[in-house]
Amino acid sequence: MLTAPSFPTTRQSIAGIPIADLVQEFGTPCYVYDVAKIQQRIRDLNAFDTVRYAQKALSNIAILDRVRRQGVVVDAVSAGEIERALRAGYSATTKPAGIVYTADVFDQDALDLVVQHAIPVNVGSPDMIDQLGERMPGCSFAMRINPGFGHGHSQKTNTGGPQSKHGIWYEDVDECLLRADRHGMAVTGLHMHIGSGTDLEHLSQVCGAMERIASQVGRTVTTISAGGGLPVPYQDHQEYVDLAKYFELWDATRCRLQDEFGHKVELEIEPGRYLVAESGFLVAEIRAVKQMGENLFYLLDAGFNDLARPILYGAYHPISIARRDGQQTNSKPVVLGGPLCESGDIFTQTEGGFVDRRELPAAGVGDWVILEVAGAYAFSMASNYNSRYRCPEVMIEDGTPKLIRRRENADDLLSLECIPES
Ligand SMILES: *Cc1c(COP(=O)(O)O)cnc(C)c1O
Repeated sequence: MLTAPSFPTTRQSIAGIPIADLVQEFGTPCYVYDVAKIQQRIRDLNAFDTVRYAQKALSNIAILDRVRRQGVVVDAVSAGEIERALRAGYSATTKPAGIVYTADVFDQDALDLVVQHAIPVNVGSPDMIDQLGERMPGCSFAMRINPGFGHGHSQKTNTGGPQSKHGIWYEDVDECLLRADRHGMAVTGLHMHIGSGTDLEHLSQVCGAMERIASQVGRTVTTISAGGGLPVPYQDHQEYVDLAKYFELWDATRCRLQDEFGHKVELEIEPGRYLVAESGFLVAEIRAVKQMGENLFYLLDAGFNDLARPILYGAYHPISIARRDGQQTNSKPVVLGGPLCESGDIFTQTEGGFVDRRELPAAGVGDWVILEVAGAYAFSMASNYNSRYRCPEVMIEDGTPKLIRRRENADDLLSLECIPES
């Protein structure tokens, strides 16, 4: 089992490249990804037949290209993600399919692309079966099942049970098989993504539900997917999941199904966060320091438009300081905020929006703050709120920083708008 990391509060470099050099070349704020970290996380999962990356975590096409070169395939949840996968060199016709569309609805754009490129679909709602059947009668597809219970690190990330909108309710499986029959379609894959975290007890319930439903669907099933939800530590007391045990539980399920069906059953895993979270760093500059009553604020040039997880979920990110002068200083409790005209623009907050303080080395205007473990659900959730330009993304590969998305400018920001004649 991987030992949990500890998170230092000072840092002078990322993947061997001095922060000062990165800032000089790319400016702040800026996302930096350490590609070697992603490659290591992919290797951790090599016991699974297929690693299918849930690209919504970090969907830059350069990252998609690099994970493809490691033998990883992808999941797409929208027309835009299908386009990204195609541009990064994935094809739906490889085995296993380079792209699978997984969603609870088809919008028109996504359905058109699915038909055009014959992209396999993992349906999350019974209506999708008819919509797919009308356009591609006779195709095979997978079903995402909601087994009736769930797990997640917050209400907003819980992905199973009656409160979740995801997947096909387990009691509706027979009805879905009838719908499939009407269009001459077969269910060849089953999928559950319900975010078990590190809870192996819970995982064995998930595996049990998968086995029951696979038996119910029968011998057409050739792939089962464990979904995503593998956690990574964001704080000193958090741990990795025991991947060997995780695999063992799923593998045992797969083996029993193989015995029952008399043919091979492929075992997929579909991580997002696990592959990319730890590779990512958001580098920002301190632009103002002010004492407000008992709180000392460091205000950065990055805000929740760049990294939304704290304001969305009260998510905790490890934070480190890089002083320009490289000096070590004593720590003090600080509140870290951004530039947005919105009081929730605070990186050190807990769920419910409560402002928290973090012990960090003393620093001043012009020093850098690095928000760490910021590869997943970070840039991919960035927005232009407050009409801010989205920041650049850089990947460090073999000791070289490479720009993979430039900083936006005013033309980018305004390119889609027009003022009609009055
Ligand atoms: C988001 C998502 C994942 C990845 O979840 P992580 O928690 O990032 O591993 C996997 N599968 C599906 C269907 C998803 O929607």
